[in-house]
Formats: sequence, C-alpha cells, structure tokens
Amino acid sequence: MDQKKQIHKVIFAGAGPGDPELITIKTARHLRVAEVIITDRLVSEVILERYSNPKALILHAGKQRRTDGSTPQHIINELLVDYALQGKKVVRLKGGDVSIFSNLLDELQALNKYDISYEIVPGVTAACGAAAYAGIPLTARNHAQAVRLLTLHQNDIIQSAYWTELAQTEDTLVFYMSGDTTDELVKQLLNHGIQADKYIAVIEQATTPLQKVISSPIYEFEKDFGKSNYHSPTLIIVGKVAGLHEELKWKAEKENKGELYFKPVSKNKEEEVRA
Ligand code: SAH
Repeated sequence: MDQKKQIHKVIFAGAGPGDPELITIKTARHLRVAEVIITDRLVSEVILERYSNPKALILHAGKQRRTDGSTPQHIINELLVDYALQGKKVVRLKGGDVSIFSNLLDELQALNKYDISYEIVPGVTAACGAAAYAGIPLTARNHAQAVRLLTLHQNDIIQSAYWTELAQTEDTLVFYMSGDTTDELVKQLLNHGIQADKYIAVIEQATTPLQKVISSPIYEFEKDFGKSNYHSPTLIIVGKVAGLHEELKWKAEKENKGELYFKPVSKNKEEEVRA
C-alpha cells in the first residue's frame, strides 16, 4: 500500500554572527533533530559540530561575492523543496538573522509554490553582534535616535540626494557587505558634507576570536586606513556612536596574520551540493 509521506515544516533559522554561544536555544533544538541542514558560508564549523544531529546531511550552499563557488539561488530553492517533499526534516541555516540581507523571500516563495509549510526562527544579526562586541551602543542617548541597516555593493548607483541624506542624518548607519567599498563609502559621505564629529568603525570577523575593530574620526579614515584590505566578513558602523568604541571596548584583540574564521566558499560547490 502506498503510504502518504509526512511532510515536515522547513525551519529557517539564524545561527548568529559567529560566537557559537550567540545561537538561540530554539535554533539549537531544531539542529539537533534535523536530517538535512542547508547552511551558509557565515555559519562556522564549530556551530555545525556542536549543535547538529551527527547523522544529518550537511550541504554548504554558500554565497560570496567575487567567487565563482557561490551556489545559485535556484539550486538552493530546489534543494529545499526536494528534501522537504522527500519527507526529510530540513533546516535552512543562515548566518546572523535569517531575514537581514539574505534571500529569505525567494526561498519562502519557492516553498509556498509547493504548499510546504515553514517556521522562521530569528537570530542575532551582525549589526547587533558586532556592536555589542565592539562596545558601540547603536542608539546611545545624545548620539543617535535611530539605526539604519544598509549595504553598498560595488555596482550600486546611489543618487547624490540619497548620499546627502545619509551624510546629514543623525541616525547610526550600519553597512553590511561593504568591506570592498569602504573607501568609496567614506569618500561619498565626506563629499556630501558629513559632520566632523562622526566616526567610522570597521569590525572584522565580529564576535569571533579573530575580531578586530578599526575606528577613527571619519575625516581621518582615509589618511590612516584607506586602501586597507579587511578580513571578511566586515561590518561598518558610521555615526557618533562609533566614537564610543575607544571608551567602551571590552573585548581583547589578538594579532591576526590573515586568519579567517569562516571558510571561504570553494569552487565547484554546486556539483558538490548536487551530488
Ligand atoms: N543575515 C546576516 C547578514 C548576511 S549578509 C546577518 O543577519 O548578520 C553578509 C554580511 O553580514 C557580511 O558581508 C558582513 O557585512 C555581515 N556580517 C555577518 N557576519 C559578520 C561578522 N561575524 N562580522 C562582521 N560582519 C558580519
């Protein structure tokens, strides 16, 4: 007799920014019973080893700019649908929070097409993780009233009026995925008249043992740090609050000679993932 397969909810879960203790109890519980885990580049091996069901199939479906090892979105969507329809307990694990600068929308719509249900478990996004571990209160009283989560991609064309608005606002600006465009970002903010009491903090590999924070008044950044190469991932915080880092920092830094906490996406991942 043909027994109807039970289809489980697909779990979309945030793994936090790096420190394995910054994962939620709920995400850890889902990982413990998962049969298939489709994970991101910005989820460390430590997290996978510590929290996953040892029998789970782990698929690395990372994305990384400037590499050809990224898994195309349509393949990730297919994997989610295929494994869910096979009756597997699937967890889609993403670095930070699941909904911030991720392709959550695409993946949810792919499941909706097949009437596969899902659950979304939030995570600590990089902005919160990096700010906490760098001693930067994002909306400190008398420093900022709001915080904006932004990104500046290499090819983004931002209108001059928008730059002016970003330069003039008292809001804290947090830039994701902008490590390569930091110099351009600073140049634009200076050109559009950002005030001299604003600071910039560049936080590399936040919340990991390799975390490094570079901070300076924004007008001195180019002279001191322009043309630097940062260790990915990098988060950038601009605003008066970034100047509080010197006073409030608490995490010791060790010298980093180029070590990366998160493994870069490798080539031919697609074949590996499909295999
Ligand atoms: N969903 C993730 C963001 C994905 S976009 C979240 O909520 O955090 C990837 C970008 O996130 C990186 O380019 C970087 O800007 C930022 N990021 C993620 N983890 C980080 C970390 N540990 N340190 C610094 N930046 C990080």
